[in-house]
Amino acid sequence: MINNAVGSLSSHLWDSSDLYRNAVMQLSDAAKTMHLDPNIFERLKVPKRALIVTVPIRLDDGSIRCFEGYRVQHNMTLGPGKGGIRFHPEVNLSEVAGLAMLMTFKCSLVGLPLGGAKGGIRVDPSQLSRQEAQALTRRYTTEINMIIGPDKDIPAPDVGTDAQHMAWMMDTFSQEKGFAIPGVVTGKPIEIGGSLGRAESTGRGVVYTIQHAAKHLADQGKPGPKIDSTTTVAVHGFGKVGAVAALEIYNLGTKVVAVSDDKGGIHNKNGLNIPEVLAYVAKNRSIIGCPNSEPITNEELLALPVDVLIPAAIDGVITPKNVHNVKAKIIAEGANGPITTEALHVLEERGAFIIPDILCNAGGVIVSYFEWVQGIQNFFWSETEVNAKLAEVMAHAFKKVVDIQISYKCEMKTAALIAGVDRLNRAMLLRGLFP
Ligand code: NAD
Repeated sequence: MINNAVGSLSSHLWDSSDLYRNAVMQLSDAAKTMHLDPNIFERLKVPKRALIVTVPIRLDDGSIRCFEGYRVQHNMTLGPGKGGIRFHPEVNLSEVAGLAMLMTFKCSLVGLPLGGAKGGIRVDPSQLSRQEAQALTRRYTTEINMIIGPDKDIPAPDVGTDAQHMAWMMDTFSQEKGFAIPGVVTGKPIEIGGSLGRAESTGRGVVYTIQHAAKHLADQGKPGPKIDSTTTVAVHGFGKVGAVAALEIYNLGTKVVAVSDDKGGIHNKNGLNIPEVLAYVAKNRSIIGCPNSEPITNEELLALPVDVLIPAAIDGVITPKNVHNVKAKIIAEGANGPITTEALHVLEERGAFIIPDILCNAGGVIVSYFEWVQGIQNFFWSETEVNAKLAEVMAHAFKKVVDIQISYKCEMKTAALIAGVDRLNRAMLLRGLFP
């Protein structure tokens, strides 16, 4: 029998975060629906390996401060670990483990030869100078270097980190080995082996899935928005994922009526001019006070009567507390885990179409994979080629998930999990259990 939620092994060590508990609950739903081998479930509900490190750095004032860092590898059956590095004050072992688990299912769902991993440092990056951020990134890389590498585990940017952090990680790892090893990270700057289109890939993929969702609803004769000048969109979180998604969907002619960041949001019922908002953010480091807009709170943004809502900030944003206010017809999970499991059931019941995170935001890991492949071959593709290949993989994954959803008559979230777990299940059974 499959245990209902987190089992005995995991309960004391891993399950202190909502994100991890939600990931296991969703895995459990998928396991029941697809009648997953209980032995596979037993292994998938806990990570393979976790490294906890102390990262001491000298601050600009001369004092030394220690930060907590993590790297968790959830499952490496399909290949080396893959997953971002998060710098955020709330990062903890359980959250990183839950995110690593989602990476396993995401990589499997989109057919990559990669496993799931995630890392992070418990720090508020906005409080660090550039020099402190660099010292923190470099020392963290050194502390986890025994478990990362192009054939072992390949980090990438996540919340609070970007291409510059990846450049420092790549340089630190390479200095320690004595020669350049660009393949140790993805999401690098183009100058040191990054891929064209990687920075935009997650947001771009989010918008591809929204287009597929609109077409799918129309093909099924179900009510749903078209993606045109009549469509209204709200984007929660205007970072690396949300800002690109907002621009891409704005470029399709839709009205992006609201966007937000951690300080609050802006609203214009006639549609914001997203290129102007981006230029304002580049200058002011926040959207607050952007001309031609009214202020709006994050909670108000989530409750707007829009056609498409893109939660692209953090996890646990739509919960049983506020789910009844959410009116969007299509909700595209740009972030990892923005809708809790209970809230998800409520939304599905009222007929909202959810594009699950492991499908919706998979564009980033797909182009990270392309970057890794290009790096191994030392042969780099044009952005047109990268985008065409991304679109093809996303289209295939979307179809796989809706086919499963239709055949099992389950929620989209469960269908996405089944798509990921099914491939992994077969691979794990073939490889067997060592020793
Ligand atoms: P980011 O740090 O670039 O941006 C996060 C944005 O969310 C910022 O605008 C921040 O101000 C805002 N934010 C933070 N807390 C908020 C809150 N409480 N309310 C409203 N806004 C808030 O991070 P990102 O890389 O864009 O990642 C966003 C999400 O997407 C995360 O869940 C991440 O795991 C996921 N994701 C990222 C990638 C990627 O390629 N970067 C890939 C897949 C999934």
